[in-house]
Amino acid sequence: MRDDLMIMLEEREGEMIELRRYFHEHPELSFKEEKTAAYITNFYKGKDVEVETNVGNGYGIIVTIKGASPGKTIGLRADFDALPIDEEADVPFKSKNEGVMHACGHDAHTAYLLVLADCLIKLKDKMSGTIKIIHQHAEEQPPGGAKSIMESDKLDDVDAIFGIHILPMAPAGTVGYHSGYAFNGRTYFKLKIQGTGGHGSSPHKANDAIVAGAYFVTAVQTVASRRVNPISSGVVTVGSFDGKGTFNVIKDSIELEGDIRYSDSETQEVISQEIHRIVSGIESLFGVICELTYTPDYPLLYNDPELTAFVAETLKGVKDKEMTEVKEFPKLAPSDDFAYYLEKIPGSYFFIGCTPKGVEEPYFNHHPKFDIDEDAILVAAKAVGHVACAYLEQSIE
Ligand code: MN
Repeated sequence: MRDDLMIMLEEREGEMIELRRYFHEHPELSFKEEKTAAYITNFYKGKDVEVETNVGNGYGIIVTIKGASPGKTIGLRADFDALPIDEEADVPFKSKNEGVMHACGHDAHTAYLLVLADCLIKLKDKMSGTIKIIHQHAEEQPPGGAKSIMESDKLDDVDAIFGIHILPMAPAGTVGYHSGYAFNGRTYFKLKIQGTGGHGSSPHKANDAIVAGAYFVTAVQTVASRRVNPISSGVVTVGSFDGKGTFNVIKDSIELEGDIRYSDSETQEVISQEIHRIVSGIESLFGVICELTYTPDYPLLYNDPELTAFVAETLKGVKDKEMTEVKEFPKLAPSDDFAYYLEKIPGSYFFIGCTPKGVEEPYFNHHPKFDIDEDAILVAAKAVGHVACAYLEQSIE
């Protein structure tokens, strides 16, 4: 089956590229991917599979491909939302939706998975087990789509889950993997400080919220530098300080918003404790009232070591002219809601190099000039195809 699949994928590379360009021209924001979801659903029309739409808290789609004989069940996921970015990449298939751009490569993810799914549907008589294709909405916008899809119970029978992200840190042909914690976890916070307003000439009758807020900003700088174990990593960013007022009026309240990242659960805990401690310290130090909203959104992404080794061994073992190098990637700083699947289902999220040809310093994901080498799309299809087939083959009892 695997040889047939690879031949079919090679033959359909042009179609994958066309699909990617179509999605690229028609990007939609998270939770608003109505047309993209309709396009994907329509792609499966008339095919012999079960298609479930509107899964989770948005336009999630699950396509279930049942093999002729029993076996394990695996999930393969690709996200399909775009970003609120004005495209500046010089490509003939530039975004037609102003202010929206596929700047993270989810267009390529969806393109490869559609064609891979169709090939698997055509080969299902030779397949043992079940493959659930997960076309996921809203990766870019917390709370994301993955958490709600997990909660939908539609993946309860999935034994292992795999997905890829294209990254321009390596050329097309390179497949990267990372065992254990691979992506950072993330927390959003908002702090409202309520003091007492007053006249600039009478500070003793007021309680200045700006001063308290400024102390908070200064104090949190010590979290990463003084509290986090140096072999781990953690970041606290105050990205917004809303305290606009009038020059001679003491401000009664301010609002801060920020972003926290961490490389492991211990660091996550340390930062959470410290932020809460600083907030209560600010309260007693200044006699203000603090209201803290502290929302961990995307968890740490944990790749199952056994299945990551399985991915690495499988792909290193195949002699494929498209897959020139399979190597370990470093731990990476972004976050991805694929982490929610991995909290419950063992699996591996791995990486497909896509640096555009002839470019030495590529623009990274989320840059307005982000672009890819489209050769990476076939590599993604083949890599995920190999892993899926190998997993189902080894699971036959
Ligand atoms: Mn992404």
